[in-house]
Amino acid sequence: MIGPQQAGEVLHTPSPVPFLHAFSFYLAALLLLMPGCQWFSEPAMHKPDPHSYSNPHETRVDSLHLTLKVDFDTQTLSGTADWFPVAGHAPSLILDTYGLDIHSVEGDGRALQFRLGAHDALLGQALEISLHQPTERVRIHYSTRKGARALQWLAASQTEGGQHPYLFTQSQSILARTWIPCMDSPGQRFRYTAEVDVPPGLLALMSAENPTETRADGRYTFRMDQPVPAYLMALAVGKLEFRPLGERTGVYAEPVMLDRAVYEFTDMEQMLATTESLYGPYVWGRYDVLVLPPSFPFGGMENPRLTFATPTIITGDRSLVSLIAHELAHSWSGNLVTNATWDDFWLNEGFTVYVEMRIMEALYGPDYAAMLSAIAYADVSEEVKSLTAGGQERKTRLAAHTRGEDPDDGVGPIAYDKGYHFLLLIEKTIGRVRWDAFLKSYFQKNAFKSMHTEGFLSRLDSLLSAEEERRIWVQEWVYGTGLPVNCPPPLSSRFAAVDSTLNSWRNGDSEALPTNLDAWSTHEWVYFLRRLDGQDSIGATELDRRYRITGTPNAEIGCVWYQWVIRFAPPYANQRTFTDALEAYMTRIGRRKFIMPIYKALKETGQADRALSIYEQARPNYHSVASHSVDALLGWKVD
Ligand SMILES: [Zn+2]
Repeated sequence: MIGPQQAGEVLHTPSPVPFLHAFSFYLAALLLLMPGCQWFSEPAMHKPDPHSYSNPHETRVDSLHLTLKVDFDTQTLSGTADWFPVAGHAPSLILDTYGLDIHSVEGDGRALQFRLGAHDALLGQALEISLHQPTERVRIHYSTRKGARALQWLAASQTEGGQHPYLFTQSQSILARTWIPCMDSPGQRFRYTAEVDVPPGLLALMSAENPTETRADGRYTFRMDQPVPAYLMALAVGKLEFRPLGERTGVYAEPVMLDRAVYEFTDMEQMLATTESLYGPYVWGRYDVLVLPPSFPFGGMENPRLTFATPTIITGDRSLVSLIAHELAHSWSGNLVTNATWDDFWLNEGFTVYVEMRIMEALYGPDYAAMLSAIAYADVSEEVKSLTAGGQERKTRLAAHTRGEDPDDGVGPIAYDKGYHFLLLIEKTIGRVRWDAFLKSYFQKNAFKSMHTEGFLSRLDSLLSAEEERRIWVQEWVYGTGLPVNCPPPLSSRFAAVDSTLNSWRNGDSEALPTNLDAWSTHEWVYFLRRLDGQDSIGATELDRRYRITGTPNAEIGCVWYQWVIRFAPPYANQRTFTDALEAYMTRIGRRKFIMPIYKALKETGQADRALSIYEQARPNYHSVASHSVDALLGWKVD
């Protein structure tokens, strides 16, 4: 998934904040001094997942058949989930559920006893089913309830076209259980088929082989032959059309935005070929993108075969397609080799940011990729600073401990950008030829498997010499806090040029500024705006008159601009055009990365009431993943 850079977090001075934890450094040094030391042995076979009740070590299920009816009136799904236990003699099958109504359970046509455990606010309820021996098929009759967290139901008025309702799911991290009774652990994979009934005139899509035409009867069947973990289960239903981009790639979107999406994503087929040339064959068949309504809480979600993407990357200048590179990269890192638990999340995201950067470099050149890399550096530096200042230094470790916590809270620059910089350091230390060969074989040898941090480290240990280990400080990077001082520093000549423009402007030379908004890429604008601080507040009017940033359709630029004005140019922030544009932005967009920092800026400048009044209007349009975060930030009382 992307949403990594809380890019939103204002970064006025992205200066390096090296950080070294004395004890872990000592430990690392000690370990590295031990000759031929193996960091870790292979992971234990059944290291338990702290976010799942399921019992895969006793009863394994490796395929699912779903039959679901999608009811927009009641905002529920109802039907059956058939699980097929692999031969074993365990007395029970335990699945994860959250807020599901379980009507009955059968085993090969005979009623089975079941019970739901106590409800936990984070994990939901265990569904424990007593099995006959043997049982080939367990059928669960169930329905979701209104408010199921993975499901976002949109009224017609909340879509771009405005004529038809829309439904989409977001299962990562632990929300699959809110719409399917399942072993909701990233370490457990299964194949699936599905039959889905939707209102006539709408198209249904899943993370599977997908239809390209709307069926008059609203009945769709799906098949996913490659095994996937539950967090990659996905469903979307809406007035959608398909357009191919290349032999294996295409776009689904609401008809009104299809042309713009096709223009924006035109390089997708080439992106796919580029990634294959780096890391081996793409094994999922097709790679299509579904453009969702603006309330989608993340940038993108790497649902296999069908990435779900926010429309906020459609800027008209193809400058945010790195998000597509990121989601495509997950077809190797994440979907093929998957983090075994959410404590190992950096294995999914750090690798994916690394692969994303390599794709962007291959397609658009080193200068372009260097900007993205510098943004990642700034994001992680800022995150380390802010977590450390807030007494949450432990959250700056790559190997996380998230028992009892919502894994969605780990979606941030540590897993993504610290992970990326660690891998970048390895590349720079041992050279691309060896590193690329290692990665390619890592993806191939571990395809369709899950990986613990320790499993990766033991593989890395076989790659590195003792001297290289010493130079990289692997233990410090993975288990230590902060950003080690040997982190590769950012080097972007294009950002250096932006710095000199900013200096000239600060010295009174307005001519130094670009002639129009299109003269710079989105990244250069974001970088420029993030560098502004209180001393520049006098220039708010001039910048807005020149570039019309207030109300910009470019959500990325808008996000940084609104924060800066709120924090540093209060008179401007109170002007009617600004307040109207801000409210429109916050009620239209539900992408957490964009809305959170703006609510934070309002709160931190003594405008919590204003934040709450905007939120009151906007909240119905947000997915629960976003509203959960904003609820906590603003102290919103849920009824
Ligand atoms: Zn991702």
